[in-house]
Amino acid sequence: MPSWAAPHKQRLSPALMNDELRELYQSVILDHSRKPRNFGELHGEGCVHVHGDNPSCGDEIDLFVKLDGDRVTDIKFSGQGCAISQASASMMTQKIKGKARAEASAMAGVFRGIITGKDRQPEAEDEMGELQLLEGVQHFPQRVKCAALAWRALEQALAENAGDVTTEEPA
Ligand code: ZN
Repeated sequence: MPSWAAPHKQRLSPALMNDELRELYQSVILDHSRKPRNFGELHGEGCVHVHGDNPSCGDEIDLFVKLDGDRVTDIKFSGQGCAISQASASMMTQKIKGKARAEASAMAGVFRGIITGKDRQPEAEDEMGELQLLEGVQHFPQRVKCAALAWRALEQALAENAGDVTTEEPA
């Protein structure tokens, strides 16, 4: 098991991160922000488009979720922003694609726990894979918003509410 998959033994706060973990964090975040997965747009039947912005950092996202019945059959995003916002969105699309709506929504809750440090669900966190690397942002409130942006958009899309979300409003 890679070291990042056992965050409960090794807290990922930057102060406590060992060099290996810090390197992994940086390489994963940079890789996803430079080569975002599922980057693009989706249009047509069953597609919900949500625009999200995080004015405190300048991050923007356009999230496109295709729902077929109770399943997220496709998901893409476009946008611009800091490495954390882009990497979080990229990893999110990989994790959510193909999931049932309830499962996707539950994952959004688990991820919120990881990045805020509140209402954590340790038993569900291993499922989140590389997204656990973002745990360290909980020490930096501005960065929490960057990591949360794509997921706020996801939750709105899962509720089939097209439109805008902003990190300036409480979840
Ligand atoms: Zn940001």
